[in-house]
Amino acid sequence: MNIKAMTLPEMTAALKEMGQPAFRAKQIYTWLHKGVRSYDEMTNISKDLREKLRERYPFHTPKVVRKQESAKDGTIKYLWQLSDGNCVETVLMRYHYGNTVCISTEVGCRMGCAFCASTIGGLVRKLEPEEMLDEVLFTQVDSGQPISHIVLMGIGEPLDNFDNVMRFLELVNSPEGMNISMRHISLSTCGLVPMIDRLAEKKLQLSLAISLHGPTNEIRNLTMPVNRAYPIEELMAACRRYYEATSRRMHFEYAMIDGVNDTPAHAKQLLKLLKGLPAHVNMIPLNHVEESPLKPSSKEAVARFQKILEEGGVTATVRRTLGSDIDASCGQLRRKYSKEQGKT
Ligand code: SAH
Repeated sequence: MNIKAMTLPEMTAALKEMGQPAFRAKQIYTWLHKGVRSYDEMTNISKDLREKLRERYPFHTPKVVRKQESAKDGTIKYLWQLSDGNCVETVLMRYHYGNTVCISTEVGCRMGCAFCASTIGGLVRKLEPEEMLDEVLFTQVDSGQPISHIVLMGIGEPLDNFDNVMRFLELVNSPEGMNISMRHISLSTCGLVPMIDRLAEKKLQLSLAISLHGPTNEIRNLTMPVNRAYPIEELMAACRRYYEATSRRMHFEYAMIDGVNDTPAHAKQLLKLLKGLPAHVNMIPLNHVEESPLKPSSKEAVARFQKILEEGGVTATVRRTLGSDIDASCGQLRRKYSKEQGKT
């Protein structure tokens, strides 16, 4: 097992096998979760032990292949190269409540949503827990900005990589590590119903966001293939079970697509769908992806939609588009980079 994927008890057991006391494991764990690049940086560990660890538990750190900083809002987008040469994106956003990092959970994605750049080349592989941890750690180290919030809203479908994501959450939440509170973490899914139920069983205090993007099967089927496997009635039933299990208000993401899902009639259908469920709707003006014919809704359509939701008693916010000058959304930078490298 990769040493960075170990929980503290696992590391304690591994170090015990090497004849080391528990406090040593804790020291090493703390170093690793600060984002060191090698054992040599662990100055309170003997040279001899550092050497043994290097042999027994070699670890890798991601390399920055692109870094783009928005001149408008300070958003930074990183394209990292992983140990096998694959690349993933991480975005650092500065909000008034704290620095938020948006991480990728897979290299590519197999969900096939029509509006999303991340899925164009399909799924290459899932990320390991330590690779997700590295996204947070090295964004913090490179930018010098302390990270307090995480959203799992980058490339990939987190619930399609369930076990690795659960381990990553445990690592990042650990008091001896980054100690990021579950309440400061949001996980977004396109709607894998059985996995929503598995997540509910864990009763985590994170925020669960559902990428809804349409109030009917007809509309969701147009843009989200996952809806053919898990239609909207089943998805909403899972959301209600999730709320029952966790008492956490549900978040719904709704990308506003011109002429597709943005009329007053759609807003009313959405209200009906959410009836009785404590919910927040996050409206996202569609980010135009080069390969897609779908266009963002007009400002007027967005405002009208929001007003109908609010009047119907559902809070709805329009997400600020941060980093729009740096391809900061959903797989666009990775896509551009691989095109430049001659891979499509
Ligand atoms: N696979 C997960 C995590 C990705 S989160 C999910 O589907 O929820 C990224 C969010 O951005 C999702 O809500 C996704 O549907 C949305 N999104 C993808 N492409 C977009 C685009 N071009 N414009 C606006 N939102 C987009």
